[in-house]
Amino acid sequence: MNFITIDKKDWAPGVDQSRNTYRVYGPVEDENGCQIKPLAPDMQPKMDAPVTVMSAKSVLFPQTEKILTATLDESKEDHHVMKPVETDDMPRVVLGIRPYDAKAVHLVKLNFDNPDYKDPYWCAAYDATTFVGLGVTRPGPCDFSTAVGSGPFSEEGLDVLMADMDDKYLAKILTEKGEKWAAACGFDTAADPKESQVLFDVLRKEAEKQIQADVATDKLAQKTILDLYDAPFWDEVAFSCINCGTCTYVCPTCWCFDIQDETRHNTAVRFRNWDTCMSSLFTHHASGHNPRGTKVQRVRQRFMHKLKYFLDKYDQGIMCVGCGRCVASCPVNIDIREVCNRMNDYETTK
Ligand code: SF4
Ligand code: SF4
Repeated sequence: MNFITIDKKDWAPGVDQSRNTYRVYGPVEDENGCQIKPLAPDMQPKMDAPVTVMSAKSVLFPQTEKILTATLDESKEDHHVMKPVETDDMPRVVLGIRPYDAKAVHLVKLNFDNPDYKDPYWCAAYDATTFVGLGVTRPGPCDFSTAVGSGPFSEEGLDVLMADMDDKYLAKILTEKGEKWAAACGFDTAADPKESQVLFDVLRKEAEKQIQADVATDKLAQKTILDLYDAPFWDEVAFSCINCGTCTYVCPTCWCFDIQDETRHNTAVRFRNWDTCMSSLFTHHASGHNPRGTKVQRVRQRFMHKLKYFLDKYDQGIMCVGCGRCVASCPVNIDIREVCNRMNDYETTK
């Protein structure tokens, strides 16, 4: 694995140079807090940003995305025939992504890119994207990433992992995409691999020590779905939930969407929009039946999907990277760490 050093005075010129090849995304601060956004030509990423309000998932899975279109003009031979829109395969790079958010991309990939189904829009965006992470040296109070298979210096899903060394970045190039990005920026000062790895390990251990992650997942796999489904605590967990959906929108691993058709004059467009399992409309059938018509059913679904169904289906851990965004943003303080522990510890008396 290659290591390079990037002098901070070379960082902005390098990022600017890479704009010839990439659309550049990174953390920016605005009136809504820190967000990962495409950077205008005169903008640089805020590399010392706190955890962003939303994750980077919209880079691959936009909140609203046009997927099909048709003409309604009956004089045209192909009227009313839905056709795919062009996929966006412009190379892009996400700078300063938190390592757990890159791991989340890996988990979401299991849904959008697998042997049974390949989502053409998500896959095109994924293939075009390079993820340049920055190790987290001061994890926030809600971060429990180390308890769920990620961590402040986790490499999974990243093309480059950087560490902030005051006047420079030390960067570990993890993939070919990462190599291409470094070359496009003109970053080519090699660092000693052994010394660099030791430095990374020291920083990782110091950061991991700061995380208070009292979350256990070790017994979830051996529980049966029906026992957990029928567990007596769901009414209590769901009691205060107002089904606002915030927890799912901020989550880097939530992927639910809805399809919406719109027409204007002679054009029809099919959009894909983020949706949330916390909304009763999400599962409302055209017949009027709703299999998750009550709040407790929806809250249970959110946790069962993340902590049990996903685990059983993919055998790759739970569908949560411990970013803590849902914990920090839930208006009624519902905490996935507590729910996870309740599920993990639950013993049926039957
Ligand atoms: S953020 Fe909290 S209140 Fe809103 S849907 Fe999620 S659990 Fe319920
Ligand atoms: S469930 Fe919560 S803590 Fe886990 S990845 Fe989603 S937002 Fe982060």
